[in-house]
Amino acid sequence: MAIWVRGGRLYDVVAGSYRDGDIRIEDGRIEAIGASGAPLGDDQVIDAAGAFLFPGFIDCHVHLCMPTEGGNPDNPWAGKLPGETAIYAAHAAEWTLMGGVTTARDVGGWDYHEIAVRNLINQGKLRGPRLFCAGKLLSITTSTTAYYPGMYDTANGPDQVRAMARKQLAMGADLIKIMGTGALTSTEYEDARAIQYQLEEVKAAVAIAEENFKHCAAHAHACEGIRNAALAGCRSVEHGSFGDEDTYALMAEKGTYLVPTVCVHSALMADNQANANLLPHIRDRYIASEDLHLKNVALAHRLGVSVAMGTDAGTPGNHHGDNMQEIERMVTGADLSAQDAIYASTMGGASLLRREDDLGSLDVGKFADVVGFAADPLTDIHAIRDVGFVMKGGEVMRDELH
Ligand SMILES: [Zn+2]
Repeated sequence: MAIWVRGGRLYDVVAGSYRDGDIRIEDGRIEAIGASGAPLGDDQVIDAAGAFLFPGFIDCHVHLCMPTEGGNPDNPWAGKLPGETAIYAAHAAEWTLMGGVTTARDVGGWDYHEIAVRNLINQGKLRGPRLFCAGKLLSITTSTTAYYPGMYDTANGPDQVRAMARKQLAMGADLIKIMGTGALTSTEYEDARAIQYQLEEVKAAVAIAEENFKHCAAHAHACEGIRNAALAGCRSVEHGSFGDEDTYALMAEKGTYLVPTVCVHSALMADNQANANLLPHIRDRYIASEDLHLKNVALAHRLGVSVAMGTDAGTPGNHHGDNMQEIERMVTGADLSAQDAIYASTMGGASLLRREDDLGSLDVGKFADVVGFAADPLTDIHAIRDVGFVMKGGEVMRDELH
């Protein structure tokens, strides 16, 4: 039995244009595109007449275990039962999927609850995106571990970094995430303009990841941290806020992906409760850094750095399921064209994950991950937030198109 998605306008992420036609799906994968012929008697037919259909979106930076509602990142699970975190992450995964994200990379979980969620999604017992998980992130000794005791694993020096990276893989991680520099969402003792890991430590993390057919993602705001990540062979730089022209040119040369996460600022500002509860020193940093962050993402993009979309969903006010706001923000704030922002959110993510054969475009042989809109996001990027249809692996998760 085949599944047909009929009558949609199919977006080609490489060409940046639509073509009309049907999608025929078998065993969860696209079997024909622009298909001719007619469904057979027992085929399932989904009417998508007039809808704008895209490949499933890929969010390369989420924290499914982080609750966004309260707005206070200082140990949000203190005093709660471990199961509450796990159940929250399961809900966050479903919200993310319903928001149009059929694949997500979790770059900092909480006591491996997100890996349990990944496994249950893969077994068909929970609804959520295809997940690629880092487990706990690797950090130097820092005051911020007190904020995120379930997310941080401390490792100092190349030997400890190697051991801790191996531990994440042993716990089922798909990648290694390191803190290359200080963070914004951290204690007042931490500075995002300072590096944390030194080059030799970053190289140690990359080696363990790559030896095991995985990749290493580096959180990096500070310019020197971005440079270290590129030099060491990290697959992606997360945030990349305070780089300079030479550093972004180096990223372009090395093929290092930039995951911009520019919506962290606007998402916080749009949420009154998160704003009211957030520690003032963090709110001040979000406000003070937004313009430069946006300007530098635009610069990096102009210099030819490959961009993969990532929301940082899980930061205060940056709600799971509202992931499409990052695509909108890349266009309205960081000067990407709608076509480029959508490419970053589909093929960009697939390439970062080295899964171009399975993900990232509406092409024969790939997973039948399809997201639909009633209005055209190419003519009005705000329409990207009105997801009306979500299919993952040929299974309809949501259909409000008609
Ligand atoms: Zn993050």
